[in-house]
Amino acid sequence: MTLATDTALVLFSGGQDSTVCLAWALERFARVETIGFDYGQRHAIELKVRARLRERMAALNRNWKARLDDDHLLKLDTLGAISDTALTRKTAIELADSGLPSTFVPGRNLIFFCFAGALAYRRGVRHMVAGMCETDYSGYPDCRDDTVKAIQVALSLGLDKRVTIHTPLMWVDKADTFAMAEQIGGKAFLDLVIEDSHSCYLGDRTKRHDWGFGCGSCPACELRAQGFAKFVSRKKT
Ligand code: ZN
Repeated sequence: MTLATDTALVLFSGGQDSTVCLAWALERFARVETIGFDYGQRHAIELKVRARLRERMAALNRNWKARLDDDHLLKLDTLGAISDTALTRKTAIELADSGLPSTFVPGRNLIFFCFAGALAYRRGVRHMVAGMCETDYSGYPDCRDDTVKAIQVALSLGLDKRVTIHTPLMWVDKADTFAMAEQIGGKAFLDLVIEDSHSCYLGDRTKRHDWGFGCGSCPACELRAQGFAKFVSRKKT
């Protein structure tokens, strides 16, 4: 893999997927910036783990340290204000009548990409990297490959500048995401993903499992736990 001379902007939430995407980008691009969004999440824990992850990843690999550049944290209070979901309100995490979990924040990724696109344009960046996945996901329609491709076309037209959105995890399940972490950065990076990335919807960092911290029972924890169990069993065979 030759290193691109370009810069990439990674949508980095501090979750397992976006952390692996950040490593993926650091292996490929000469300069990598990160962007995160504060939209009034019930638990701001994932915003706290972002800085630590960036620091620990830079400490892990000299090349990553050299390539990792600015972080941008954008406040999107308005999104939280108009969203009535289990991620922004204290309501139960359950399946809604729409068939989607109550954690679905309508339009979230569409809005994130618009802001990321505006920032990328201003900074002369034409590559964006994001951790959307439609393999073993929660069914969010804005994580689908077609949605992301449509956003890529809309941004390229609307900005009159070619924008490429890379989604290295789109067709990879959670078990393979753990495997990809190990493949990119060895056991040290896999351990870092487990220890420091955060997935739990309830923001629980008091209970430590073999797959990391979390309540163990919300849909995000269940996905992560199942993925890790599959990853471990695949390694044994
Ligand atoms: Zn949880």
